[in-house]
Amino acid sequence: MKSGNQIVGVWPLAGFDKILHYRVPEHLKGSIPAGALVRVPVGRRFTLAVVYQVDVEADMPESRLKVITEAIYPMPVLTPDLVNLINWMVSYYGASRESIIETMVPTAVRLGKSARIEKYLSVAQKLTSADLTQLKKRAPTQYKVYTFLSQQFKPQQKGLVMRRLKISASTMKSLVEKGLLQETIERVERVAYDDEFSKGEVVESKAITLNEEQQAAADMVQQSLHEAAFVVHLLQGVTGSGKTEVYLNALQKALEMGGSVIFLVPEVALTPQTVGRLRSRLLQSGTQKVVVWHSHLSDGERLDGWLSLARGEAKVVVGARSAIFAPLPNVKLIIVDEEHEPAYKQDEQPRYHGRDVAVYRAMLNKAVCLLGSATPSLESQMNVANGKYKVNYLTKRVDDRRLPLIHVVDMRREILKRRGMLTLSDFLREKIRERYEAREQTILFINRRGYSKSMICQECGYVAECNHCSVAMTYHRTDDSLHCHMCGAEEGAPYRCPECQSDKIRRRGMGTQKVEEVVQQIIPSARIVRMDADAMGKKNLFRKILGDFRTGKIDVLVGTQMLAKGLDFPNVTLVGLVDADISLHMPDFRANERTFQLMVQVAGRSGRGDISGEVVVQTFTPHAMPIQFGRQADVTGFCEEEMAIRREYRYPPFRHLVQHLIRGPNPDKVSFFAEQWAKKVSAAIASHSIEVEIRGPAPCAIEKIKDSYRFQIWYFTHQVTRLVELLAELQRDFIWPDDVVQVLDVDPTNVG
Ligand code: ADP
Ligand code: ZN
Ligand code: ZN
Repeated sequence: MKSGNQIVGVWPLAGFDKILHYRVPEHLKGSIPAGALVRVPVGRRFTLAVVYQVDVEADMPESRLKVITEAIYPMPVLTPDLVNLINWMVSYYGASRESIIETMVPTAVRLGKSARIEKYLSVAQKLTSADLTQLKKRAPTQYKVYTFLSQQFKPQQKGLVMRRLKISASTMKSLVEKGLLQETIERVERVAYDDEFSKGEVVESKAITLNEEQQAAADMVQQSLHEAAFVVHLLQGVTGSGKTEVYLNALQKALEMGGSVIFLVPEVALTPQTVGRLRSRLLQSGTQKVVVWHSHLSDGERLDGWLSLARGEAKVVVGARSAIFAPLPNVKLIIVDEEHEPAYKQDEQPRYHGRDVAVYRAMLNKAVCLLGSATPSLESQMNVANGKYKVNYLTKRVDDRRLPLIHVVDMRREILKRRGMLTLSDFLREKIRERYEAREQTILFINRRGYSKSMICQECGYVAECNHCSVAMTYHRTDDSLHCHMCGAEEGAPYRCPECQSDKIRRRGMGTQKVEEVVQQIIPSARIVRMDADAMGKKNLFRKILGDFRTGKIDVLVGTQMLAKGLDFPNVTLVGLVDADISLHMPDFRANERTFQLMVQVAGRSGRGDISGEVVVQTFTPHAMPIQFGRQADVTGFCEEEMAIRREYRYPPFRHLVQHLIRGPNPDKVSFFAEQWAKKVSAAIASHSIEVEIRGPAPCAIEKIKDSYRFQIWYFTHQVTRLVELLAELQRDFIWPDDVVQVLDVDPTNVG
């Protein structure tokens, strides 16, 4: 630090993206680190700000600089790597700095709250029995407190002691003043360590010897950890192959080496077993604290968890995507379980992909990033092919359990037999009954997320597709027509199937309730429970259902595809996927990939115990490519075929997609401005020699949300940062009307 004034550069959280300079007041000189949270005057108000750089050259005469008002936090709220991460996220995602900081730093921290402080009492001086008798005579209440505390093993909370013994504060005070008791101040932890979701799910974890494949993977990851270089490992292992054991092995190594670890799961609520296993393993191996991080935490829990991470008291965080921003120093390992999951993508500001941010943060720390999946994303498989990622395969289930047998039921034939729509095929009904009679369990999945109004021929399985985009077209009731949401093509809805001339061409979709009803009709005595979005929202209900299912109080569980993640129930021997091809008809170039992943993941829930399992997949398009490969769980085969399609259209992972969503209450106006904007961008691209292909504007698949009409423009490019920068520049002199809102989404996972 120079003598004289100390000047720092800060990012104010005040609705604009600029670095401002301030003088550090005398009493704080030298004690404000980069990443610290401060309050500063901006204009006529005060605002929070994050210190970005200390000791900078002032950008104006020093005498005119304003002075920092106060330091809110005694330590940096952002570690140096997080500060760098912000810069990258701004340039890559085009997100505002403020929205990123707000995501990284919990509200309670930003408000400058500190953890709840409690006073504790313990005995400071051991009295002889003579002294004790004295005390009893002269001050019976003091005696009462003293004897109570001398019988406790650890310090007791002052407030509780007072209430329990009905003692006044002055009694306590005189005991402390006499030196008989001592008062200590301790921070009270709320339940962040004792997470609700995994409470009932602490899976006993036996000592496990890794099998050969697991050991090979673990060795490779360990080697990277020792090299202390940035490496991304992809662990591609079939469902039930013991990927979690490899994660835990790497995690323990990283901790032994003094590093800290971030463990991402798609959703904490849906992966209670993974969290439970992690916790029990770490507890066994020592006193390691695990902070569990998810969206259901209260502000207080969040604050406590955040504090223990920032202070380095806890060295492991497990959580959903935002756990990637944990203020952990010295990150050595980042694990991303089920890396293919779209849940890692945040669909609101800042729109980042948790897996990709994980890879970047690992790079900033020269750390190891371990991605795992049974069905890796095409993006990651491409990175393996390019040599950017290392890969290990787990090809067998543990204990040589067989992968389940997958039956594909052709629903077109079922419908002919029944002469009408139906929910469950005879084959699946029969299987459910068999398993019920054998006292084994069944899970039925409905692919609700993919619900979309596509048109499908019930005779031949024909699905109306766009000629230019290889995606299903979407039926619009307003004008009884089919639209392509990629390129805007439009045609009248067919009354006859163009392939087989049948008039049984319909829109379709179905729900969990219907399935539940049907199963109940087939087996009136079966205990059936439906698990849908409502149940997911209530953590106790969710836990109860999982508990009941585990203990065999439920025969058939009916749920949406969300359930397909990570559940491990040994007595489940039948899994039914009621409508496999719904996701196939989503107006999304990832429709094949999603369908394939869903099929493999769903199948992975079956036959995890000693009895081998079966899977029944109902589809109108049994010949469809993802279903054919899904049936064999053939990741490599699927990847080859699908890569060829992506290559042809130059879709991701061959180029990045940046989606520009433009919406407003007046469709004509929105479309007009979208057109104008697209023209402007096209012109700029031509003159900037940047390689971008623009498609659209076209209406989104969901045309209208809350009376707002949605259009999108797609930019395909290899140069995301340059494009994002160019678009930001163009925005400066393009005036959008107040009632037209537009957002940029880089690498979207959901293009509807
Ligand atoms: P995945 O995540 O690949 O689906 P898991 O890690 O959940 O698989 O492992 C499936 C089951 O096999 C778990 O119950 C786990 O405890 C057990 N397991 C894993 N590895 C071994 C091993 N080497 N020996 C014995 N059991 C194992
Ligand atoms: Zn047909
Ligand atoms: Zn099209």
